[in-house]
Amino acid sequence: MKKKEKLIVGNWKLNPTDKETAKKIFVGVRQFSTKSKYSKTVICPPFHYLSVLQPLIKGKKIALGAQDVFWENEGAFTGEISPVMLSKAGASYVIIGHSERRAMGETDEMVNRKVKAALKEGLRAIVCVGEKERDAHGHYLEFLSAQIRNSLDKIQKKSLSDIIIAYEPIWAIGKKEALNGSLLYEMTLFVKKVISDMYGYDAGMDMRVLYGGSVTPVNTVDIISNGQVDGLLIGRQSLDPESFSEIITLIDTL
Ligand code: PEP
Repeated sequence: MKKKEKLIVGNWKLNPTDKETAKKIFVGVRQFSTKSKYSKTVICPPFHYLSVLQPLIKGKKIALGAQDVFWENEGAFTGEISPVMLSKAGASYVIIGHSERRAMGETDEMVNRKVKAALKEGLRAIVCVGEKERDAHGHYLEFLSAQIRNSLDKIQKKSLSDIIIAYEPIWAIGKKEALNGSLLYEMTLFVKKVISDMYGYDAGMDMRVLYGGSVTPVNTVDIISNGQVDGLLIGRQSLDPESFSEIITLIDTL
């Protein structure tokens, strides 16, 4: 059986502060991602660096993504950036609904509008979902299910191949430890089950699910092998080309 390519997404957040450093990190990662057999890397820098990094893309193993998008393509929307602008600046992916944006007031309905607008422009949408905390009664599963359903509301089945769900338990983001692989596996299945209930079994099985939250070279193998995810969404370690490249290299050994 052919190994399925893993998607490794680096979310740079509000870093680095200058474009020379941005180029250095990108080139450092590119060296390894272009050689990788079983993964594709997507670097999501601040908007401003997209057009700086676009000329540095080589081949199909590395691409650019944005960290957010607005749902209109133009108009009186101060401070926003549109799908068409992102696409022209070199992005082919966009992270939507990251917990840090949700914490600033982004709702499922806004996420849904953004996903629809991104897809319309031909961008692939990486939709982030994840619970703030867990409870013994499993209410967090209802929360997660509602987040997925609302974010994908009225999105057609044929668009699902351009959607990737990033499961990021908020309590595991920016911490020392990630969710362990066997617990993650339950969540991978849960996300696929929600999609199956919405769109049918095959759609659920085909949905790409990423994990994000304190991924490092130390826990990569457990997360990918035992968690059975289709890739990773990486924050801090994506700014360190050495660690990030180690993660890419490790995935080839699995
Ligand atoms: C994130 O912010 O999406 C993230 C996963 O961050 P970190 O890898 O630093 O936990």
